[in-house]
Amino acid sequence: MNLTEISLIDQHGHNLLRPEVAADYPYPAVFTQGYDPEIINHHARHTLFYRRSLQEIGTLLDCEAEETAILARRQNLGLEKLSEICFNSGKIEAIYLDDGLEPDAILPLSWHEQFVTVKRVLRLEVLAEQLILQTEDFATFLTRFLQEIDPPPVEVVAFKSIVCYRTGLEIDTVTTKVASEHFDNLKQQLADGRSLRLVDKPLIDFLLHQALLIAAKYGLPVQFHTGFGDPDLDLRLANPLLLRPLLESPQYRQVPFVLLHAAYPYMRSAGYLASVYPQVYLDFGLAVPFLSFSGMGHTLRQLLELAPTSKLMYSSDAKFIPELYYLAAKWGRQILAEVLEEAIASEELTATEAETIAIAILRQNALDLYH
Ligand SMILES: [Zn+2]
Repeated sequence: MNLTEISLIDQHGHNLLRPEVAADYPYPAVFTQGYDPEIINHHARHTLFYRRSLQEIGTLLDCEAEETAILARRQNLGLEKLSEICFNSGKIEAIYLDDGLEPDAILPLSWHEQFVTVKRVLRLEVLAEQLILQTEDFATFLTRFLQEIDPPPVEVVAFKSIVCYRTGLEIDTVTTKVASEHFDNLKQQLADGRSLRLVDKPLIDFLLHQALLIAAKYGLPVQFHTGFGDPDLDLRLANPLLLRPLLESPQYRQVPFVLLHAAYPYMRSAGYLASVYPQVYLDFGLAVPFLSFSGMGHTLRQLLELAPTSKLMYSSDAKFIPELYYLAAKWGRQILAEVLEEAIASEELTATEAETIAIAILRQNALDLYH
């Protein structure tokens, strides 16, 4: 199968870095989930993903497949031209951007609109952090938090939660009284605080429940980080099976739960959830393009062991540099084609069915889910 003509809806990615910030960023740093300097400087260049990426980027930019040659070439091109090449060659039609990652270091949504259609994904914990710093008492804070998301701003197509990173996917039910006490404690500790990284579990869980009620009211999808990520998260608490109480809750039945990153390495759990809960959707961003070729194939196959193809969506989870958008697009199509061809060969699908499924996964499922 050749899927290169199907233009992609990338349902989860992040903004590119402002050039002055990118200038201080070692190139391999965006090709690893690690941030320890020893990982970045001594190991990130030695993954199958990085070696393969240099080959692919060298071909795309028409230069030697080697880090210094690529750096010189992208310097020559400049960010605008480089981005144009990456987004056009990847045939990417739209990106749903979570602009809550390093908000001070990134280019605004509007900058990306010169290349692709952009929709916004609102990161709940970042909003909460901003408002905690701006307010003195819990009642004011909560009112402002709810005002900001109800109704959701017009450009927002989904909420996103990184509760997985902060305190894990086992979400408790928390009373307003307890949340209020935790807010007060937090404010006392902050005293002269200019910045805040919210890690208070009762407060995070309480706010997530609030946001889910609003998402239910509007039928708005909520994207959840699940599975692997940088070492800020405890992978043991990143298994989407922990979401069961929320998925069983009738009041959230109208909320599409989008489990990001194939929940790697919990692909089978994620596929199972999508097969039994109507409101659960999946994507395979980050797993594609970060894993080895064999890992990307296993990931997609394991998701599809149980998951209906109507539940699966393409994304890149690309961030900071445009090359990641291109690499994910290239390999996302390639791996999907391989897996669908296997299904044709084993007579699970006809060629026509496989074609329809490819379009669904690469674009139509996202277009239908995010109105
Ligand atoms: Zn992401």
